[in-house]
Amino acid sequence: TPAVAVREVTHRYGRGADAVTALGPLSLDIPAGEFLVLVGPSGSGKSTLLRLIAGFEHASSGEVTVHGRTPEPGRQAGVVFQQPRLFPWRTVGENIALALRYAGVPRAERPARVEELLERVGLAGTARRRTWQISGGQQQRVAIARALAGGKDLLLLDEPFAALDALTRERLQEDLRTVSSRTGITSVFVTHSVDEAVFLGTRAVVLSAGPGTVALDVPIPLPRT
Ligand code: ADP
Ligand code: ADP
Repeated sequence: TPAVAVREVTHRYGRGADAVTALGPLSLDIPAGEFLVLVGPSGSGKSTLLRLIAGFEHASSGEVTVHGRTPEPGRQAGVVFQQPRLFPWRTVGENIALALRYAGVPRAERPARVEELLERVGLAGTARRRTWQISGGQQQRVAIARALAGGKDLLLLDEPFAALDALTRERLQEDLRTVSSRTGITSVFVTHSVDEAVFLGTRAVVLSAGPGTVALDVPIPLPRT
């Protein structure tokens, strides 16, 4: 089974005359290990599709499954937004430990797991720093580490680097690419940047304007390190 299966999915917000169709009908398989970049005009339903895969929303019709099962919020997928959404008054380590706690990792194992996750995102040794004291790029690294907590093998990223300066963005792109190819994690990454899509993706899906359907679905056959 694919990591993610989207079958004839449509999604509407609201009811009756006020209902807004946000997505679909859309069908899509995402094999395990793929780095899928999702592009398309504003309002085509990219964020909605991520929310359905994350289990934050339930499809109005059709079915979304993750490893063959209905996704539950916070269970199968780690989610990274444009803003890191960390607890600023907590330390880097505490932010990640909290996610480990939600994932059911015993307290005694958490410090080592925190350090392991920080190492994976290039932040080894920063666990004791306060989140508000680190840069925006470092905060987004923490958000990625937190999303991976609990051994999650599905990462959903909604324009995670859009708010960062060009140099920081480039470094994070490189590091994310390394993390994803080393761990074989499945990623769905929303972006407006063609450069970013080509650099990170193994496949690009373009949603059409209006309630998004697939307009284009292409492999990105570039060598990956
Ligand atoms: P994208 O991420 O591609 O910009 P979205 O998934 O955010 O697209 O939005 C798709 C459509 O659904 C848009 O018309 C948007 O206004 C609408 N929409 C998104 N979220 C909501 C919501 N919570 N309530 C009502 N309409 C929404
Ligand atoms: P993004 O570009 O990251 O999708 P948006 O500014 O489009 O962010 O939307 C921010 C939030 O507002 C999202 O959670 C989205 O679901 C919600 N939203 C978008 N459009 C609408 C809408 N028409 N009505 C209510 N909520 C909406």
